[in-house]
Amino acid sequence: MARSEKGHFLIIGGGFAGLATAIELKRKGFSAEVFETAPELSLIGDVIQIGSSATRIISKWGDTLKGVTEYSSRPKTMSIYNSAGELVFDSPILADYDGFPILFSNRSGVQKCFYEYALSIGVTVHLNTRVTEYFENDECAGITIGSKEFKGDAIIACDGIHSYGRRYVTGINQIAQTSGFSVYRSWFPLERLSHDPLTKHFTSSTEEELIMWVGRDTHTNLLVLPKPQGAVVFVTHPDTDNEASESWSRKGSMEDMMKNVEGWDPICRAAVAAVPQEVLIDWKLLWRDPTRKWVSDKGRVVLVGDSAHPHLPTSGTGGVQAIEDAATLVAVLDSLGKEKIPLAFRVFQKLRYERTSLTQRMGWETRHRWHKTDWEAVAKDPAIMKMPQPTWIYGHDAEKYAYDRTAEAAESVEKGTAFQSTNIPEGHVHEDWTVEMMLALEQDEVQKNFYKVANV
Ligand SMILES: Cc1cc2nc3c(=O)[nH]c(=O)nc-3n(C[C@H](O)[C@H](O)[C@H](O)COP(=O)(O)OP(=O)(O)OC[C@H]3O[C@@H](n4cnc5c(N)ncnc54)[C@H](O)[C@@H]3O)c2cc1C
Repeated sequence: MARSEKGHFLIIGGGFAGLATAIELKRKGFSAEVFETAPELSLIGDVIQIGSSATRIISKWGDTLKGVTEYSSRPKTMSIYNSAGELVFDSPILADYDGFPILFSNRSGVQKCFYEYALSIGVTVHLNTRVTEYFENDECAGITIGSKEFKGDAIIACDGIHSYGRRYVTGINQIAQTSGFSVYRSWFPLERLSHDPLTKHFTSSTEEELIMWVGRDTHTNLLVLPKPQGAVVFVTHPDTDNEASESWSRKGSMEDMMKNVEGWDPICRAAVAAVPQEVLIDWKLLWRDPTRKWVSDKGRVVLVGDSAHPHLPTSGTGGVQAIEDAATLVAVLDSLGKEKIPLAFRVFQKLRYERTSLTQRMGWETRHRWHKTDWEAVAKDPAIMKMPQPTWIYGHDAEKYAYDRTAEAAESVEKGTAFQSTNIPEGHVHEDWTVEMMLALEQDEVQKNFYKVANV
């Protein structure tokens, strides 16, 4: 494989973060090879919302956005009901922002598009390769796999929530923590909804429908997709066991899932009952404290995506932040050059830390709004229940922000001068938080100034 004089990078993990980083590197004249544990690209997966700040980036990757759009739907509203089946709010969903679409996409379809594009532009991908040995010195970094060594100018660890890279960088061997919740996930043929008169009408929908029912400590989503004739059902519920695992093969129990919606709107129950047992999985929602250490001591290993900042699904933006990370990191490397990789990695963290710490927290806050709803406040303003689609996330141009602010962030890193993030809500003052703090707040009802992220 040809190595670029501009810099050669070893990327650990071939999820959204890893593939996006590899593509951005190639696009800007660097070379990259990706090492991924999975023996092949998984064809399982349900739905992921890809916001406009990510489609803005993907739009620069040849025809990839066109391919992703073919695996996507674009519901116009999210209809929010209480558990009794009373409509709370029809929340409009933006179709696009600055012309960049907001997509509800099939997860494996998106990954396939990224993967095929990465291969087409010359990224090398080593599948079936688990990486757990890194080394680095002042000039380079590398990995060892069995008796083989691979070297590059640096390592970019995109290995997700159970990241080995995070352990290497922080020196702390801590497993991901439970968030107290799990989600039953399923994707199945739409025709299944025709078996019950209460859900039969969904099968003749000509447009995508996105419905959510919210109740105490639980919420249920139904996505109806006429084009691929599919349905998605999620039931987010309190997690009752302490085993920390996340896997597409962790089977869910229909009986237990139904218990979570006992006494709920019969339409919701009928949709949940339509899930075929064989596709049902129970996915533990794990997360980690935001860490202030994304870069190794020698400066040649950096964390990107969920390895740096795992998100809960209720933020709707974990994958998007991984793609923004990729565009940011590569723009900074492009600006500072190969000679300044350790500085570039620290600048990358400076540009991203406060934003992603807040989007991580937003996932908890949104869930709290739905699970411990302040119904008096909702009676006055039902819009507080909507899935946040704020301009500071959806309107962000991560690549431009990085080019515009790298010099200032570099000065801040080198001289310790102040740096004011402008990719967070205007006027927001950053506060560090931990998972423990959020879990302690979990049972609290809403009080004044409870939420740090406005729901607009
Ligand atoms: C139920 C659910 C719904 C979600 N919905 C949304 C949404 O609507 N919108 C959104 O933006 N985000 C959403 N997210 C979050 C999003 O899925 C993640 O933030 C995103 O996938 C992170 O990408 P990543 O590449 O950093 O990590 P991952 O996708 O976890 O990829 C990590 C990759 O690294 C590989 N790997 C791990 N360890 C090693 C190793 N040692 N060696 C080699 N390879 C390794 C793994 O096999 C994997 O392929 C959701 C998450 C969940 C759980």
